[in-house]
Amino acid sequence: MPDSTIRVRIAPSPTGPLHIGTARTALFNFLYARHVGGTFLFRLEDTDVARSTAEFERDIIDGLHWLGITWDEGPDTAGDMDHGPFAPYRQMARLAIYKEASDRLVAADLAYPCFCTPEELDADRKAQEAARQPPKYVGRCANLAPDERTARLAGTGRPPATRFRVRPGVVGWNDMIRDRIEIDTTNLGGDFVIVRGDGTPLYHFTVVVDDAAMEISHVIRGEDHVGNTPKHILLFEALGHAVPVFGHLPLILNPDGTKMSKRKSQTAIDDYRAEGFIREGLVNYLAYLGWSPGTEEDVLPLDEIIAKFDIDKVHKGGAKFDRGRLEWLNGQWIRRLEPNDLIDRLRPYLQAAVDDGRISRLPADDEVGPLLPVVQERLPTLAAVVDLVGFLWIDDLVVDPALVVPKRWDPATTHEALVAARDILAAHDTVTWEADELEPPLRELAETRGWKAGDLFMAIRVAVTGRTATPPLFDTLVALGRELTLARLESAAAVVGAPTVR
Ligand code: GLU
Repeated sequence: MPDSTIRVRIAPSPTGPLHIGTARTALFNFLYARHVGGTFLFRLEDTDVARSTAEFERDIIDGLHWLGITWDEGPDTAGDMDHGPFAPYRQMARLAIYKEASDRLVAADLAYPCFCTPEELDADRKAQEAARQPPKYVGRCANLAPDERTARLAGTGRPPATRFRVRPGVVGWNDMIRDRIEIDTTNLGGDFVIVRGDGTPLYHFTVVVDDAAMEISHVIRGEDHVGNTPKHILLFEALGHAVPVFGHLPLILNPDGTKMSKRKSQTAIDDYRAEGFIREGLVNYLAYLGWSPGTEEDVLPLDEIIAKFDIDKVHKGGAKFDRGRLEWLNGQWIRRLEPNDLIDRLRPYLQAAVDDGRISRLPADDEVGPLLPVVQERLPTLAAVVDLVGFLWIDDLVVDPALVVPKRWDPATTHEALVAARDILAAHDTVTWEADELEPPLRELAETRGWKAGDLFMAIRVAVTGRTATPPLFDTLVALGRELTLARLESAAAVVGAPTVR
């Protein structure tokens, strides 16, 4: 049943590149809005002027769009005009709105000017630490008479901050995901600053003023915000607005159960993109970070995820990030790409390998195309193409002599085998250079010499590719072509046969 009264939002701070947690939160809001026929808006919380940049804005917006996440209200590109009935959707363009709201709270005595200096607050904190008490505002300015305020102002000579009065009691809400949560306001650290002395409004305040002004009905965000929600509820009440429904998504955890952090884990969406995770795979995986359709289906396109998404089925427990599953899912999506689309998407990764010297040249599309039948099903990521078949485009392949000699063999046997294999293959012309033509005579060679076919094939594999893991050997020889195969067998034979090199 479409419900146009549902309004949700993602409100990133452009103080870093798009984080996997932000992408997951954006996705769940988007899925919820699209599933119920509500509205999804994007708001930039850019009041931390020192750390916010236009580059991070661009990174966040581009990254979300790349994943297929679009919004109904907000900017569509960095620096773009905002669109929607509640514009502007960037907080630095809304300062007058926060000023009006804080003046209103002060006039109603729900907030008050606070003249405490950093030194005073520091001394309070130290005294509390020494007494093993949690940090809390002591209330020095909470109940000043007008003349006391004047005296404090004269004493500090600086404009006061604005502090919000935290009422005693319990604040509770029925969380969409975590059921009932109640927090005693004595645990909130006392009255808190909503506007700094220099006029900068702070996060707890701006987020509430905006969620109220933008008529947000459901605030769906990470579990790390649970401790902020009571402050927000108190502010909604003080401002006289309806309190939205809150839903807190499970944290994304490392496989060892610790919190995924910028320092310890790979958290930037860009880094996954650079590794060749494709949007279809990544967005499918992000949807499973804390949710599942309750069926066996794993590979789901975004429109089907929207159709199946059920916020009530979001898990309470932390969502462990499983790179193996991400790679598997990404591989499944790579297999589903049309050949030309895959070639287009591989090109930048091949170009990057040319740029950093891992391969010698960029293969033409008609060289990559014929490889797809063996390559496509083996790629966990796009970038893996270089490891898988990059050896095809290396001019002077350097083969490690230690690698080319199979475990059970010595260099002399290897040399003999490579020379014999080369001679057998040389008997083929380009017309019979086909996988099923090349295999039988080499098997026969192994049999006549009493070698294990696996050892012979491994020696040939390393000789022509430099690697022990490649696509199937005979497909690889076909892709290399007759001349390159013969030349590489010759030079590898020379490498193992020449003691000075070893
Ligand atoms: N700007 C906040 C953040 O990035 C928004 C939090 C919220 O959704 O309320 O964490």
